[in-house]
Amino acid sequence: MGKGIWVYAEHKDGKIKKVTYEMLGVARQLADQLAEEVAAVIIGKEVGELASALGEYGADKVYVLENDALAEYTTDGYTRALARLALEHQPTAIFLGCTVQGRDLAAQVAQRLQAGLCTDCTKVELQDGQITLTRPIYAGKAFVQAISPEARPVMATIRPNVLPVPQPQGGRAAEVVQVDVEPGDIRQVIKEVVRQVSTRPELTEADIIVSGGRGMKSAENFRILEELADVLGAAVGASRAAVDAGYAPHSMQVGQTGKTVSPQLYIACGISGAIQHLAGMGSSKVIVAINKDPEANIFKVADYGIVGDLFEVVPLLTREFRKLLG
Ligand code: FAD
Repeated sequence: MGKGIWVYAEHKDGKIKKVTYEMLGVARQLADQLAEEVAAVIIGKEVGELASALGEYGADKVYVLENDALAEYTTDGYTRALARLALEHQPTAIFLGCTVQGRDLAAQVAQRLQAGLCTDCTKVELQDGQITLTRPIYAGKAFVQAISPEARPVMATIRPNVLPVPQPQGGRAAEVVQVDVEPGDIRQVIKEVVRQVSTRPELTEADIIVSGGRGMKSAENFRILEELADVLGAAVGASRAAVDAGYAPHSMQVGQTGKTVSPQLYIACGISGAIQHLAGMGSSKVIVAINKDPEANIFKVADYGIVGDLFEVVPLLTREFRKLLG
């Protein structure tokens, strides 16, 4: 039995993040091929009860690292906890979600473990006995495959929404290992957690995204995208031109210098399809583009194109979806 394929189980508001399940699916496949075990690592305060879900999605073991000082994510506290555990057990691989938290933690832990780190991976497989990581390069124009022939652990962050969520096996229990943690000095002080009140899903994890570009012409006009998004249960995104023009906050920007998204459905409204925008949404499963210019680049990547004025098309879509979805 090898030393294990580990998945960092990210959670928020008492719920495991979907990317964790996606990673458990691929970890299970690798572990079965390598005759290793799958271990999930969950860090926080009173998070032990989340362990059962991790077993149902493929974890054989769940390391639970609980401490009052770890109630909120801090770089120092979580890095120390995860790196110490990994140094003790020397796993074969550690996967983290390519989320804000996962990216921060992965880089710090990799440095502590003197491991390489392959970020934003869209595929993980076993090739010739090697864990082979695929990630996009040149703003999504090409893909590179990376292996780490000898150094362990293999470390990677995995792009959310790309790998399938495995079918949960009800009642499949993982061995829960409670680990004593000594968080030590934590330099980051959480004074207040300010939550944006929104009923919409988080952009990077949304199944459906309605995005607006410079063609929206004003911040007020984003209201029509929000109405469509609310009918579809979607998140709202924006191009950089829309953000630079002040129509939307930077937190909504999709693209090379914004967020990378992989929804099931991406509806681009008044977005021309610049390479830097495509870099952030090109791996969406189905792309619908609404643009009045039939030559717009976005139509080259769109599965469905609507040539027309978005101010007519979007409210029409909202009306029709409302009828369909109630
Ligand atoms: P435009 O290119 O101006 O397109 C607007 C579109 O709206 C046009 O196609 C037009 O036909 C259409 N339109 C106008 N009115 C209507 C209407 N009434 N109905 C229907 N269609 C209409 N961009 C990003 O998006 N994300 C990034 O992260 C990003 N990073 C960058 C990083 C670098 C280093 C650089 C150099 C650029 C980056 N950009 C990024 C900018 C990118 O190059 C483009 O400038 C930007 O994506 C254009 O945004 P847009 O499509 O909204 O605007």
